[in-house]
Amino acid sequence: MPRKHRAARERSAPPPSTQRPLGVAPEWTILDGFTIRTVSGEKGKPYRCPGCQQLVRAGTPHLVVVADGDVEGRRHWHTPCWRTELRRLGRGT
Ligand SMILES: [Zn+2]
Repeated sequence: MPRKHRAARERSAPPPSTQRPLGVAPEWTILDGFTIRTVSGEKGKPYRCPGCQQLVRAGTPHLVVVADGDVEGRRHWHTPCWRTELRRLGRGT
């Protein structure tokens, strides 16, 4: 059964509240070419954070980072790790 591909750009239309409560990320997290969402992580499974290579444990609020046009390539980042990454890219404050 085919997976539903949502449009990468969901900025104007909030996704229907299904299983994954997604929040609008704070402004400091925004990076051109990426869509950032906050998640509570409550129902999640553990994910590997690309920033520190540690697990983002279930129940940890964190960020979901999706490169525009790469819906399948979403990454789960610890919030502080994303902040560090932005700094590394020279985008942070
Ligand atoms: Zn991390």
